[in-house]
Amino acid sequence: MLNQENCWEAVLAKDTAQDGRFYFGVLTTGVYCRPSCPARKPLRKNVRFYETPEAAERDGLRPCRRCRPADARASAPNGARIQQLCDYIRGHIDDGHALTLENLSRQAGLSPSHLQRTFKSIAGVSPKEFVVACRLEKFKNQLREGGSVTNAIYDAGFGSSSRVYERVDSRLGMTPSEYRAGGEKISISYVCVETPLGLMAIAATDRGLCSLQFGDSREQLLANLRGEFPAAAIEQAKHPHSEQLDLWIDALSRHLQGEQPRLDVPVDVRATAFQSRVWNYLQSIPYGETRSYSEIARSLGKPGAARAVGSACALNRVAIVIPCHRVIRGDGNLGGYRWGLERKRRLLDAEKRA
Ligand SMILES: [Zn+2]
Repeated sequence: MLNQENCWEAVLAKDTAQDGRFYFGVLTTGVYCRPSCPARKPLRKNVRFYETPEAAERDGLRPCRRCRPADARASAPNGARIQQLCDYIRGHIDDGHALTLENLSRQAGLSPSHLQRTFKSIAGVSPKEFVVACRLEKFKNQLREGGSVTNAIYDAGFGSSSRVYERVDSRLGMTPSEYRAGGEKISISYVCVETPLGLMAIAATDRGLCSLQFGDSREQLLANLRGEFPAAAIEQAKHPHSEQLDLWIDALSRHLQGEQPRLDVPVDVRATAFQSRVWNYLQSIPYGETRSYSEIARSLGKPGAARAVGSACALNRVAIVIPCHRVIRGDGNLGGYRWGLERKRRLLDAEKRA
């Protein structure tokens, strides 16, 4: 948090030592400046302070032509040091130990809190955010080169698929498979398995589960699948299944028996930005817990969108893995469930018992 008084004093003093540490915007002219800008000082009431140029630009301000505030970062006293640290992070992106704040501050020769502040003022993001951004960059590059999503996730140092999906919506803007898809025809293999909750069709691309649904008969399940992916080549999975599919089925069945509360199976779904935010959120609800539609809407920063959250849950095709059954009404009523309320109740009861 910026101290407004100190910032204003620095502006009045044209304090060059503060350049790169904050920026001030002038609402009447629509420009933002570094503290030492030589231009005539604006009235205090028209001034707002920002931690980064991006923040000022989000408020609709443009950089001042005289003081060129966006260049202030590079000339800030610790600029070179942070630049080197950024290179170090890029070179160690899949090494979790190298990227702890302790080690990074050792590398930079700054205390952890000083590093946090300095890094943010120069790079515009915290060290941790920078690490995530670099991982996403690597991840996107691998997808562009045609690597599998699962490999790309691990190679980029994410360690688990749910962690990348948490990030992807806000940073990548779309799901990994959409990113790579480029209109290519998808092929889907599926298996039907008997579970304690009835017959279940598990359908997957080579990147993850694209559909996991309950139904009364194999014919009905296959018809559903064809209806949902009319352009895809759909085939029953050959025996023995691919190693990957076996792994996913195995994880699912252990999960349904209460042996593996944390299910970490990749999904390959198309979604609008809002749907993927909701689905990511659902995957963050711990096993055995529930959330209400309006709680989720609030957590996503859209308190009025409880109904839209409900629709996103209703459109989920990957039961269990995207645990829409953990969403209930605010008054404790179970709400709806695409695969029947009885199944929802049994799923929730089983999770509570385990
Ligand atoms: Zn200026």
